Amino acid sequence: MKTIGQIAAELQGYDPQALSAVQVNEFLARLVEPVADVESVSVFGALGRVLADDVTSPISVPPHDNSAMDGFAFAGHQLVQGQPLKLKLKGTALAGKAWEGNVRPGECLKIMTGAIMPGGLDTVVPLEFVRIEGDGIEIPADVVKPGDNRRLLGEDLMAGQPALARGDLLGPAALGLVASLGLPELRVFRRLKVAYFSTGDEILSLGESPREGAVYDSNRYTVFGLLHRMGIEVVDMGVVRDEPEALETAFRQAAEQADAIITSGGVSMGEADHTKAMMKQLGDVAFWRIAMRPGRPMAVGRIQRPGRSSILFGLPGNPVAVMVTFLAFVRPALRRMMGARASDPVLLRARCGEALRKKPGRTEYQRGIVTTEPDGTLKVRTTGNQGSGVLRSMVEANGLIVLHHGQGHVAVGDEVDVMMFDGVI
Ligand code: AMP
Ligand code: MG
Repeated sequence: MKTIGQIAAELQGYDPQALSAVQVNEFLARLVEPVADVESVSVFGALGRVLADDVTSPISVPPHDNSAMDGFAFAGHQLVQGQPLKLKLKGTALAGKAWEGNVRPGECLKIMTGAIMPGGLDTVVPLEFVRIEGDGIEIPADVVKPGDNRRLLGEDLMAGQPALARGDLLGPAALGLVASLGLPELRVFRRLKVAYFSTGDEILSLGESPREGAVYDSNRYTVFGLLHRMGIEVVDMGVVRDEPEALETAFRQAAEQADAIITSGGVSMGEADHTKAMMKQLGDVAFWRIAMRPGRPMAVGRIQRPGRSSILFGLPGNPVAVMVTFLAFVRPALRRMMGARASDPVLLRARCGEALRKKPGRTEYQRGIVTTEPDGTLKVRTTGNQGSGVLRSMVEANGLIVLHHGQGHVAVGDEVDVMMFDGVI
């Protein structure tokens, strides 16, 4: 396990007073490790978990050639371009059991969707295309080609093929895929546990009476939501007073049980409070100024307890800064800790509907409302006031406009990168 100092020494141009967003993620990628423990869960229990083993398909899916439609199965070589085809009806093949018997040239079988295609038959004409004539059918000219409407054995997965890989995040589609292979259980990384508390003497818990200069704690709720969406077990530790004993107890209790600790507040430059001092005292912690907006101050490190250690993310206090630093840095780091393969967030390109002022030399995350134009292209406008305390902007936005480190002003109509919120916020 590398110390903060060792990681810092590895990074080109590391300056804790002026880190770029890219450098922060590089640092965090070196700091965090996937949890070691693995467990077996049922398919239902696997939703949102990260796969710990590769999954190879034990069977072929589908297990037989079968019909993709309700219709009539026959041997496709009998079709002649421009000519109808008359066939005698031999019987009916239902889904779920094989039809026993032979279908010869000039004959067909009524077949239901999913029913096994008997040997020699390779084509299905949908029911609605044919005319029934006595004990047979007539297929009009050119309504099907040989091989149409047949699903091939193993076209989804062949026995022995890789189906899923270690590090895959298991969503609804993956659960269905696993079930289609007949696998009742999966090996997944254990759930991550993250403890969270808010700091600051001006922070009120819900239920407390308003008082002058105080604000209600919103960060605990946004962080709870962000963690919950990631499938992480959340330990809510409330609001912690700016007193050394209270902070020490909170950090120790958090480190005793959680893989990571997230705090908000008390890490900015001019803070006269005890949060930073306690982080320094209990852990191996770096205090950063990040070239970003909103955000900027952040503490990162490790708090050691006998036999275990927790990663510390000391986020700024401003509610929007908390969410943005979480999305930009904490979320990717937690995903690595969950065992998920590293993946950059997908950025879309949208035409900006307004001019944006932006200084090169820092990354800015503006709250954006992305819409689809009648011509199918994406357009984005900001939510207005981009103050780091304006939480309403995060509610109104459906994504973040990411103005990269080197980027300057944006003119109306310029394309910008946007990171959509779907499923995350
Ligand atoms: P700080 O980083 O502690 O200087 O806080 C910056 C700003 O964020 C101050 O205006 C705080 O009142 C506000 N703030 C800090 N923590 C919270 C919180 N948990 N909920 C809402 N606002 C907060
Ligand atoms: Mg404060």
